[in-house]
Amino acid sequence: MDNASLRDAARTLFPGGVNSPVRSFRSVGGGAIPIVRGEGPLVFDADGRRYVDFIAAFGPLILGHAPAPVVDAVRRAAGDGTAFGSLTPGEVELGRRVTAATALERVRFVNSGTEATMTAIRLARAATGRDLIVKFDGCYHGHSDGLLVKAGSGVATMGLSDSAGVPEPIASLTAVLPYNDVPALEAWFVEHPNDTAAVIVESIAGNMGLVEPTAAFLAALQEAPRKHGALLIADEVITGFRLRYGLSGLLPAADIVCLGKIIGGGLPVGAFGGSAKLMSLIAPEGPVYQAGTLSGNPLVMAAGVAMLDALADGRAHQRAQELAGHLENGLRAAIKRAQVTASVTRVGSMLTVFFRSTPPTDYAEARESDTAMFARFHGAMLKRGILLPPSQFETMFVSSAHTEATIDETVRAAHEAFREAATP
Ligand code: PMP
Repeated sequence: MDNASLRDAARTLFPGGVNSPVRSFRSVGGGAIPIVRGEGPLVFDADGRRYVDFIAAFGPLILGHAPAPVVDAVRRAAGDGTAFGSLTPGEVELGRRVTAATALERVRFVNSGTEATMTAIRLARAATGRDLIVKFDGCYHGHSDGLLVKAGSGVATMGLSDSAGVPEPIASLTAVLPYNDVPALEAWFVEHPNDTAAVIVESIAGNMGLVEPTAAFLAALQEAPRKHGALLIADEVITGFRLRYGLSGLLPAADIVCLGKIIGGGLPVGAFGGSAKLMSLIAPEGPVYQAGTLSGNPLVMAAGVAMLDALADGRAHQRAQELAGHLENGLRAAIKRAQVTASVTRVGSMLTVFFRSTPPTDYAEARESDTAMFARFHGAMLKRGILLPPSQFETMFVSSAHTEATIDETVRAAHEAFREAATP
């Protein structure tokens, strides 16, 4: 089947023709791209077209596509059986690696980042006996009811849901504050000193495009909740094992850490963890229920172990970051040459081109970007065989499998694509 027939068939099977909305490429005015194969930094669609890939499955693939150690580990594990509903050695192996690298005393493996953050919140509510949750505008923590909530502009607003089907009483338990806004965070705790269960935050915001936290914001996150008996939940689903082997290190005082993506080697995974005391509240040790038929699945655990072992010496991180640095420099030069209004943010191997003059500091600023121009840029890059995340508000991921040649190819394409995007 070619691209068109797969797309047509998918539209008769799945809402919007996809199994996760962003894959529809709607926000850049395109259609889903059926990928049949990946190899290192490249993917190939059903028409046989080759792309340099910067979606990288939205984060897990820090070694690129189909890295031999991960593929071999999954093959070996599959031969021994794909699921048991019982404790398996792979869980112990990955559990040891994750706890050793993160200093989390206990973790629980789940099947997605959504499950990790959803349960982290349940745990925080049980531990504090409080109900209110604070999140930040533009941070995404998966699609559980209480986290699909956004803010009004600028000021903290309670409970305006991002999705139909979220009951108002649930949405109203989530407050949304602007990212990087220390006074707003402090004001929240002045108004609600005794009823906030937790503050949840992406250690580096990756879901409004890449927006860096300020040092003052990171400090306030680690002070204000604690002072008022609330827990801090660090969502490291993207950043965990992405910047270095272990956590980002930006929120060392977090009470609960959520992980996903990289620790599953590209298979479905999530995890949350904390101190032994806090995690003892989780069933069957404690009263907070959480379970999963396929949690700790042997294929996932094998992939995760192989992935982490390939990352342990730090060389892959260094390589990915070096290449991302070249890409950043090349994109900046291309922006200058094409005289377009755009800025680049980069942390490690993650980066975003924002079509606005300065890097945004919060979601309100990120939203001021020229998304029509982003869509034109995206299309112009795609035409040249460069696959970028299909939204201004997603992050590009560079892997250790990208090469100087594929980065140069990307920068050459960008020189033309910026110019093309500038003329509507
Ligand atoms: N947290 C963050 C920071 C994420 O980026 C994502 C997914 N992109 C999630 C949670 C949810 O993870 P999943 O899609 O695996 O449910």
